Amino acid sequence: MSEALKEDLEKIPELQHRNFRNDEFWKKIPAWSNVSREEFGNHLWQLKHSIKKIEQVAKALGPLCTPELMSDLEAGQRRTPMNIRITPYIFSLIDWTNPWDDPIRKQFLPLGSQFLDDHPYYQADSLGEDTDSPVAMLTHRYPDKVLFLPTTICPVYCSYCTRSRIIGGSTESVDKETYGANQKKWDQAFEYILHNPLIEDVVISGGDSYMLTPKQLKYIGESLLKIPHIRRIRYATKGIAIFPQKITSDDDWFNALCEVHEFGKSFGKQVVIHTHFSSPKEITKWSQDAMDRLFSAGIIVRNQAVLQDGVNNSVETMVKLTRSLGFLNVQPYYVYMHDMVPGCEHFRTTLREGIEIEKAVRGTTAGFNTPTFVCDLPGGGGKRHVASYEYYDEENGISVWKAPYVKPGEVFTYFDPIHKLSPEAQKRWENEHTREAMIKEAIKKVTG
Ligand code: SF4
Repeated sequence: MSEALKEDLEKIPELQHRNFRNDEFWKKIPAWSNVSREEFGNHLWQLKHSIKKIEQVAKALGPLCTPELMSDLEAGQRRTPMNIRITPYIFSLIDWTNPWDDPIRKQFLPLGSQFLDDHPYYQADSLGEDTDSPVAMLTHRYPDKVLFLPTTICPVYCSYCTRSRIIGGSTESVDKETYGANQKKWDQAFEYILHNPLIEDVVISGGDSYMLTPKQLKYIGESLLKIPHIRRIRYATKGIAIFPQKITSDDDWFNALCEVHEFGKSFGKQVVIHTHFSSPKEITKWSQDAMDRLFSAGIIVRNQAVLQDGVNNSVETMVKLTRSLGFLNVQPYYVYMHDMVPGCEHFRTTLREGIEIEKAVRGTTAGFNTPTFVCDLPGGGGKRHVASYEYYDEENGISVWKAPYVKPGEVFTYFDPIHKLSPEAQKRWENEHTREAMIKEAIKKVTG
């Protein structure tokens, strides 16, 4: 294709989802203005220059970091349940001329000014993962599937992490029992899976599979695939979205993944990746190169996004995200309503927003490339389609749900963020007795 035709195509609004930036965007960051494309594309360079402290933000940005921004970032650190860790790649994609509104900054670098009081019914373990844990590092909720958490470290730390209770080390506001790789404990989890023949599917999450060494990646993958009744494993990593250079330049890790994939294929079992793009701003030519490498190796990648206020809660953004991912050969699988975890009230949207955005996204591309919007029910009811509630009191932001197969006979509730309700409804939530009565009333509509 000629350059002129390429430029013409890039201007067509309907094709913007294919327009992946390929400029040297990191050179706008004063600390990296002389970093070559080759250096920036090296996974070891990315790891070495990852930002883990607020002072490093100021150092990297130089004059771009105003005293106002710095003091807001410091206030954010006093409040957030998550540590800072951010790769130069994703850090450079932030619009530092307006960091306050930037969807990437919002996800990784919390500001004190953005926080709201937690919802009265928030829970550190909102999804009840610890309650449904038969052995360490394993959650067994759905009959045929388990969630395996082999590590609690990640290449970036997301301010909205649903496992903020364990991921990424203690902060000023939360003490955590984090853990690294521990083969003995992994073996206990494999033993449990071996003795539960109903289990067919294992999600290897964490933490992030990017932080496993090639040897660990292979040990986990092959141990699970050798269990006769296991049919599918999925490595969960946010890596492709925030650190694509690992896929393109860490050959040892990539080859280990390919070997597990081939090992699975040799006896008819699936090995796939689940990743986590939330905003189309995270997608660049680097992401495309990483996806091309995975696709050539035959590895399927699916995406799980979280619906977040100011990040992706508009039809335009969600359509662009969905279509860009489809173009990259990433299957947009789920969009989650935000979990009711601490330090995240400013990110949450109403259930109504989720329902309306899904309606608008559906039909914009092929059905298999259209994400299902789900609410992962607080208390461990599992993922339910956003429109499958039993009752929704929109005025007071209370939805009531059932999960007939996962927890027969139980009812679950999910609450909209209070600041998005009418002033009258906000007032009703202020009083403990009134809110309990509203919730009881909503549940009664379902249970009779
Ligand atoms: S990568 Fe996943 S597990 Fe790690 S901090 Fe982000 S959301 Fe949490």
